[in-house]
Amino acid sequence: MTVSTQVFDAIVIGAGGAGMRASLALGVEGKRVAVISKVFPTRSHTVAAQGGINAALSNYDADDNWKYHFYDTVKGSDFLGDQHAIEYMCREAPRSIIELEHWGMPFSRDEKGKIYQRAFGGQSRFYGKEKVRRTCAVADRTGHALLHTLYQQNVAHNTQFYSEWFALELVKNKQGHFVGVTAINISDGSKCFFAAKQTILATGGAGRIYEQSTNAYICTGDGLGMAWRHNIGLQDMEMWQFHPTGLYGTGILISEGTRGEGGRLRNAQGDYYMSGYSKNADLACRDIVARSSVQEILAGRGCGPDKDHVHLDLTDLDEDTIRNKLPGITEIAQVYAGVDPRKEPLPVVPTVHYLMGGIPTTEYGQVIEHTPGGDKVIPGLYAVGECACVSVHGANRLGANSLLDLVVFGRAAGHHVAQLDETQPLVYDQDDIDQGFATYTQMMKRTSGIAHSVIRSKLQKIMQRDFGVYRNHSEMQSGLQALKQLKHDYDHSCYFADKSKVFNTNKIEALEVGNLLDVALSTAYASLYRTESRGAHSRMDYPERDDTNWCVHSVVYADESTVKRPVNVAPNEVKPVILEVRD
Ligand SMILES: Cc1cc2nc3c(=O)[nH]c(=O)nc-3n(C[C@H](O)[C@H](O)[C@H](O)COP(=O)(O)OP(=O)(O)OC[C@H]3O[C@@H](n4cnc5c(N)ncnc54)[C@H](O)[C@@H]3O)c2cc1C
Repeated sequence: MTVSTQVFDAIVIGAGGAGMRASLALGVEGKRVAVISKVFPTRSHTVAAQGGINAALSNYDADDNWKYHFYDTVKGSDFLGDQHAIEYMCREAPRSIIELEHWGMPFSRDEKGKIYQRAFGGQSRFYGKEKVRRTCAVADRTGHALLHTLYQQNVAHNTQFYSEWFALELVKNKQGHFVGVTAINISDGSKCFFAAKQTILATGGAGRIYEQSTNAYICTGDGLGMAWRHNIGLQDMEMWQFHPTGLYGTGILISEGTRGEGGRLRNAQGDYYMSGYSKNADLACRDIVARSSVQEILAGRGCGPDKDHVHLDLTDLDEDTIRNKLPGITEIAQVYAGVDPRKEPLPVVPTVHYLMGGIPTTEYGQVIEHTPGGDKVIPGLYAVGECACVSVHGANRLGANSLLDLVVFGRAAGHHVAQLDETQPLVYDQDDIDQGFATYTQMMKRTSGIAHSVIRSKLQKIMQRDFGVYRNHSEMQSGLQALKQLKHDYDHSCYFADKSKVFNTNKIEALEVGNLLDVALSTAYASLYRTESRGAHSRMDYPERDDTNWCVHSVVYADESTVKRPVNVAPNEVKPVILEVRD
């Protein structure tokens, strides 16, 4: 089949919150922008975000301000976040919320008409006295409202959507500039090269490298795989957040908003154990709560016949809070666990949720390469959202800071691209395009081999077993060897029988497995590389945080080389937050 070419001012791969905020910034400037998405835009994983989006609006705590938000985020990141980027995000947060509100996002409100804000984990300025209420919410369906608002605004600004198109590979010209992406139309199998001087990756997370995940099935790290295969170094890939409350047996997320509204974790003996682990009790940072729950389980105090989960108790919450603030959670509990949260506790277990690491960028979303002489911008390529690492989340993300990251840095990247003074012509040749289809063509031709589903299920088991909440060298090393074997199997023999063109989901899944494998390998290299415990990365063989050697980002490459990149501790206007012990 022939390959068509479409040329745009900019291409955005991904129609989640980050991609659609970037495309909107371009659309507002009158740029011709294409958004490519493997699902209909409003089915992107952002739609599943429940709890909310952080901004120091001070609607409830009069003296809250962005500087406290900044402090909590740096501390929550276990000091691995880049402080200039965190400053930018927290300063921009209130304006971003008001902007969304003006576009029609239906925030929950209090009786005075103010945007409703709830407490969330790690927002601890008033701990001991009072909680900070900094998380703006649309009941427990915040991402749904955000995504629909952005979609409507994009339609109004003439963004051209390519829904149910699957992006295969980034295309780089002989001069080393990225010039677009190859893609296939899922509905009829046709091929296209989308060409532009600037390509923005916004492909979201990759939680599906694990067997149990809160992430949608589409979160397969495709953008990370595409960058990795061009030997772009990925940053902090060992930093996977385990959410303390995935619904036991399903992985479905039970929002931190439940604990923000007063829910508490309990063990089999009925003890509310979190106060024994942290001053902030149930609203400690997620890495701390997840580890505490695992310790309860390891100590034999887990719930159920297998003592392999804990309980989230919402029975003390009043009827009004459950009905109005947590309606989605009530439904999930009833449908998927057969539990009425007003009467019984929910069975929950730490479940993989979010990737703090990703493609390293400047605060304008430009992808960078770290060299001995400093950071170099890679021409033609941007990354935003969960696939990027700007890095505002460091070693542990605060709940409700991701939606904020999407809109703040999505907008920053879109503006930056719109403002570029591009006089260089767009240059590429047929050979550049062909390379972008090479792996796909090879897989389509293969007539026998190993089923992609077999490779995927082995991969997910390895990650779940060897790269969980607690890690150590020997398990990770054997996990890495097994992953390398799987990578070899995939490259040489991954096979799918169904070669049809129309809605061939088998083919799409086979392509996704390639990306999952690359993300898993980069996670394995980075996890073995960082010989300390920080944030979400807890090593039994190196249990302490090692600030002398490891208060740095890890960067790993497909050729297995590794580099340390300094953390930026030079914010613009406030004093840097200096290292301290977290509670
Ligand atoms: C259940 C759940 C609840 C959450 N709750 C919250 C919360 O309350 N607050 C908060 O701040 N964060 C929350 N998070 C985290 C946050 O929602 C995500 O980090 C964020 O939405 C990711 O947005 P994104 O724009 O980067 O990517 P996504 O929304 O995941 O979108 C990725 C896009 O990329 C496209 N794509 C991917 N690969 C390809 C390809 N090969 N070809 C074409 N298109 C492709 C997809 O189609 C999709 O449009 C939650 C996450 C989960 C899983």
